[in-house]
Amino acid sequence: DGSKPDISREKSTQLYEKAKQYFPGGVNSPVRAFKSVHGAPLFIEKGDGCRIWDADGNEFIDFCCSWGPLILGHNHEKVRESVTEALQNGLSFGAPTVLENELAELILQNNRYLEKIRFVSSGTEAVMSAIRLARGYTKKDKIIKFEGCYHGHSDSLLVKAGSGLVTFGETSSAGVPKSFADETIVIPLNDKDAIEDAFGQFKDQVAAVIIEGIPANNGLLIQEQEYVEYLRKITTENNALLIFDEVITGFRLGFEGAAAYYDIQPDIITYGKIIGGGMPVGAYGASSDIMSYISPDGGVYQAGTLSGNPIAMAAGIAQLTVLKNGVYKSLNSKTKDFVEALRRFVAAKNYKVKIFSVGSIFWIAFTDQEQIRAASDIDPASMEKYKVMHRELLNRGIYFGPSGYEVGFVSSAHTKTDLEKTKRAIFESLEVVFR
Ligand code: PMP
Repeated sequence: DGSKPDISREKSTQLYEKAKQYFPGGVNSPVRAFKSVHGAPLFIEKGDGCRIWDADGNEFIDFCCSWGPLILGHNHEKVRESVTEALQNGLSFGAPTVLENELAELILQNNRYLEKIRFVSSGTEAVMSAIRLARGYTKKDKIIKFEGCYHGHSDSLLVKAGSGLVTFGETSSAGVPKSFADETIVIPLNDKDAIEDAFGQFKDQVAAVIIEGIPANNGLLIQEQEYVEYLRKITTENNALLIFDEVITGFRLGFEGAAAYYDIQPDIITYGKIIGGGMPVGAYGASSDIMSYISPDGGVYQAGTLSGNPIAMAAGIAQLTVLKNGVYKSLNSKTKDFVEALRRFVAAKNYKVKIFSVGSIFWIAFTDQEQIRAASDIDPASMEKYKVMHRELLNRGIYFGPSGYEVGFVSSAHTKTDLEKTKRAIFESLEVVFR
């Protein structure tokens, strides 16, 4: 019937059984458990270029790329050398190092949208701090977020839409007090009326609106330029800050991320992933005025023992230097060719599949809608098809994120030949899905 025999997962399965004795669900981050796809999670042994190898010796072309940070692929020579050099001098001091200055300079001198930055250790931390800063700066408490945007796992952001168009959010995790969720208003994307209503209903209470540069955590929900411009306008009119969460889009769409993609000046930008080159890093930045509210200059407290960690800075400096010297043009155009070939294939076959893409990000959606801009436009039942495709792809040596809501990332290490092989594997896998 076209489906391939399953790859061996003997060692991964054994390791997973062990891991279940140690970690809740056997993992240190939930989606890794492969709950939405077939079989035990693969335990990865190593990566090189665009390839990864698992504990059973299976080889894959990787489109997860550690969920985005590895825009140059695994084990990039320049990143490895930079980290190795930094390692000789010790791992952490909890005191300033020149490497922090170097990474900050690299970012700030090449980014028109920021004047000052602060390094933290994860995307979650970056966004949590940005929210606190927005509240401290505006002296208001409520924030508006969008259904379908993920901003890490801090309390005020683990909130989903309640019933009704404009409502207080409901917690989307046990352990988040209702009173915290009450400070977060959740509205649908791509809906001007909803945000107008929210500002009307909570007049003078909204500190900030936060949106992912391009929402990419619940499928790829590409927003229209005009809508994002509207967000800029309505936040300014209401003395609320506009936060771009660029943990995914930062240094991915281009060196200046989504801010430059739209050419919109947000008030605060958050980063993660790519600026650490695979090491745990996040950052948030804004104008000097807004950043002056951060401790020790200002009253908004935020700190971190490992913030600006020298090894992480070294990885980031190396990766961003390579990016600055020009990667995006070829990366984005090779992704475009790849995506267009997939589109031609599914159109010729009349499959109910659309491929959404921006820059080097793509999302294969089992739908016949020309555009999907809001989370509610995604049919949860379509995820069953993703599950079949995911299994077939693994069996053909292609590693995609273990959920149909996750996007794929192309790196500069993916060659035309790798993408050719991937296309064939996707064609065959879709034939199995729709047989
Ligand atoms: N914001 C966005 C847009 C993200 O995609 C993520 C993680 N995928 C986060 C925040 C949280 O980052 P981290 O997992 O590094 O805490």
